[in-house]
Amino acid sequence: MNIELQCCALFILSVVAVMFFSNKKLDLVNRTLYTKALIICFICLVFDILSIISIYQSVYNGFNSNVTKLLCKIYIMLLVTQGFMSFNYAETSILPRDRISKHLKMVYVGIYIVGEILVLVLPIDFFMDGRVVYSYGASTVAAYILAGIYTMSTIIISVLFRKIVSPRRIISMLIWQSIWLLAAVIQFIVPGLLLIGFASAFGMVVLYIQLENPSEYVDNDTGTFNTKALSIYIKDRFRYERHFAFFTAKINYIIDSVDFNMERDVAIRTAKGMLELGPEPVFQLSDEMFGVLYEDEQRMFERMHFLKMRKDAVTDVPAKGTYILIPDSSKLYGADEFFKFIHTYENEQQEITLLDDKLLKKMRNQNIVREMIDLALKEDRVEVFYQPIYNTKTKNFVSAEALVRIRDKNGDLVPPGEFITIAEDNGQIIPLGQRVFEKVCALLSEGKAQAAGLECIEINVSAAQFDSENPTKFVRELIDKYKIDPRQLNIEITETAVNKNKRLLLSNMEKLIKSGVRFSLDDFGTGQSNLDYLMALPVDNIKFDYKFTQAFFNNDKARKFLTGMADIMHNMDMDIISEGVETEEQLKAMLDINIEYIQGFYFSKPIPGDEFILFLKRNNV
Ligand code: C2E
Ligand code: CA
Ligand code: CA
Repeated sequence: MNIELQCCALFILSVVAVMFFSNKKLDLVNRTLYTKALIICFICLVFDILSIISIYQSVYNGFNSNVTKLLCKIYIMLLVTQGFMSFNYAETSILPRDRISKHLKMVYVGIYIVGEILVLVLPIDFFMDGRVVYSYGASTVAAYILAGIYTMSTIIISVLFRKIVSPRRIISMLIWQSIWLLAAVIQFIVPGLLLIGFASAFGMVVLYIQLENPSEYVDNDTGTFNTKALSIYIKDRFRYERHFAFFTAKINYIIDSVDFNMERDVAIRTAKGMLELGPEPVFQLSDEMFGVLYEDEQRMFERMHFLKMRKDAVTDVPAKGTYILIPDSSKLYGADEFFKFIHTYENEQQEITLLDDKLLKKMRNQNIVREMIDLALKEDRVEVFYQPIYNTKTKNFVSAEALVRIRDKNGDLVPPGEFITIAEDNGQIIPLGQRVFEKVCALLSEGKAQAAGLECIEINVSAAQFDSENPTKFVRELIDKYKIDPRQLNIEITETAVNKNKRLLLSNMEKLIKSGVRFSLDDFGTGQSNLDYLMALPVDNIKFDYKFTQAFFNNDKARKFLTGMADIMHNMDMDIISEGVETEEQLKAMLDINIEYIQGFYFSKPIPGDEFILFLKRNNV
């Protein structure tokens, strides 16, 4: 009997099925469809064999021919179902999820139902002579037409939408369908070669290897799903709008040096603990970070609480856990934002980071600002404004504070208050700060401002800029590049810079001071001004912050405090710059307590470089 190929196909399919079903799988929409296609393919092969046996029995042994016809019909109906399933699989994974694809699907379901009814009611007959076996009649013709429609449609959408789907998927689809088509053509020409059943099994193998092999997504050490699986799964969940809850747990070592074996051991233990929490899929996001996906937030909170309790009970590992909770994925725009959120908050120090409207808004704003800074740096829209500083002794404007602004695309100015903190958090402060430095050096190298009486420019530097390995390098490079006198640069540092890494800060300051650069202590009078800093830091000037100066005029205690501080600083041979002087009356008060330098709207707001030079020319004698 001509069933060797079918039996062979059945065997191959069984092997694939065993591998497929024994592996841990994610409930991806495509995978569910593949599972169905696999089962149908299997049943179809069984009926293929049964129908051939039955035809043999009818032709040679007088077996009831109506039963044989029914078996033949079931077989070709299953073949049509296979065609429909393959189209369904392709359509779901390739077409964009819009109304059109929904309608299209309905049309194809309609064709399927009508087609199957036709196959069932139309007449069928069968033929056998030696190895040549086939069924024929209107029913068979209908089945071939239907299978053809589905196969061709699958090929067409694969080709049409090849740009928006991964090449691997498109190629696999095309191979799969071509095998089918080729087998049908060969079988038509050589009726003795019953290839279709074999071809469909072969197609399932191709799909398995190329697209649906679940084992490549599992980390064999920890038994968790890997990042590739996470990426595919999260995209799948968003694509089919299957909302979920997610939480991550990260191991943060409290000690500095963690040896590799311990790290691995802890990772495996953590993974095990998380896998034990329930049937939900556990993912490994990095060496120290795991995540679990839940169908709803209630279950997530419950499990997460349980996990945290267990982690807290572990005392032999020098680490603490930090957790990110995403109770409702529908708040996020898509997979990209999901990963962006985790990425943004994975190193957060606080124990629990919860995605709520407020945090999401903050992150979105941060991303907008980050892009704005990047683009401004690229398109040279970072500008430096100068706010003149008045010397009360010489009665001239001898200095200015350089203040950064970003010119947005519409030509409007964005003040530093809207982007400095974000740039400090994400590291953009380094290139941004260098750009400011460069612009200031460029202005100084022209010499026009100095000709109009300028002695130096004050530049703001954030703590983060002094955290890097060698921040002094770029300063010295710029001094060399623009051939400027380093004494014309005055760097403003704040207490935050001191708090962060005092030793590094001091050593960096020393290096720059040696080359001639000077320093001021900024924002004095805000935060917890600590007299310690005054003693420890090699600064020449103290800047009384805008708020401190204003308090002087509004509050008696502040007035006495500021006056006393001014005395102390003068005794320490330091000069004072008062920021935020807005009226003549305020200026007089500052003169009364012998403040050396005045900066404020009374004299000028921060202005662009060229305007600043004009200002100096006009106001200096
Ligand atoms: P800051 O260092 O305290 O700078 C002084 C701020 O006070 C400036 O705000 C200035 O426009 C404002 N100001 C000056 N005089 C008056 C006044 O009389 N009345 C009022 N109401 N305000 C006055 P700006 O330019 O918005 O800068 C804000 C902050 O942004 C700065 O505070 C500084 O911390 C930061 N910043 C500015 N440029 C840079 C930079 O290049 N690098 C770094 N790291 N930070 C910068
Ligand atoms: Ca400042
Ligand atoms: Ca200030």
